[in-house]
Amino acid sequence: ILEVEHINKKFDRTEVLKDISFSLEQGQVLSIIGSSGSGKTTLLRCLNFLETPDVGIIRVNGETLFDAGNEMTKQENEIRKKRLHFGLVFQSFNLFPQYTALENVMLAKELLAKAQPDYKKNKKKIHSEIEKLGRKLLTQMGLAERMDNYPHQLSGGQCQRVAIARALAMKPDILCFDEPTSALDPELTGEVLKVIKGLADQRTTMIIVTHEMAFARDVSDQVLFMDGGTILEQGTPEEVFEHPKEERTRQFLSRFT
Ligand code: ATP
Repeated sequence: ILEVEHINKKFDRTEVLKDISFSLEQGQVLSIIGSSGSGKTTLLRCLNFLETPDVGIIRVNGETLFDAGNEMTKQENEIRKKRLHFGLVFQSFNLFPQYTALENVMLAKELLAKAQPDYKKNKKKIHSEIEKLGRKLLTQMGLAERMDNYPHQLSGGQCQRVAIARALAMKPDILCFDEPTSALDPELTGEVLKVIKGLADQRTTMIIVTHEMAFARDVSDQVLFMDGGTILEQGTPEEVFEHPKEERTRQFLSRFT
């Protein structure tokens, strides 16, 4: 479903991503681990077109969404459409405080519908369909009783589950998480990881940047270990966690045991 080839990214003169290549199959989960500053967030931002790689190609379902050598693929109006292939859940939820949980989930979908030519004619029907989807997703996230609450009335774990429902509402090909639990108290971390595990069991294609090693081992089909802007090691959870080839990977993992 996803092919990433030779991505490079510099900020000023610092190379933050160096020759990053990997691929991901439909229905699989890829975890990205590595120490702070190794480039994990920047890679995720490149995949979501929030940063522009200096070199490299990104393909989804065989379609070249980005090619650093092709100016056409780098135009802003094109990029907006391409973002729809990816959903991104941030560390800090980024919910709109003035909207309820349900409204937060519905908002992007409604904006998109409003831009369609047949919206005015079918307004009521489209709105009720989006609302139905929002309610279904929030129920799936265990938030059936919380739909009309505002973010400040929800715990961090509940906010993050609303953010996951919001991302799912757009039906992305690939759902990305940037350290989805690192802003949460340990007791709230479990409820969010459980929801992500549930999505993995339903074969949702996901890329997860995480410091939760036990979770990454449990949920992933593939693990990337990033170090200094490169993929130092890549393999199944068993290969990376049980039999790391690189000394650097062993050192990194030893901090978590
Ligand atoms: P963390 O786990 O702390 O989030 P990370 O592995 O996600 O770390 P990145 O956030 O991708 O790492 O950062 C990689 C490097 O790029 C860091 O040295 C960071 O300072 C630098 N960097 C990130 N964004 C920018 C930016 N917009 N401008 C300049 N440098 C940046």
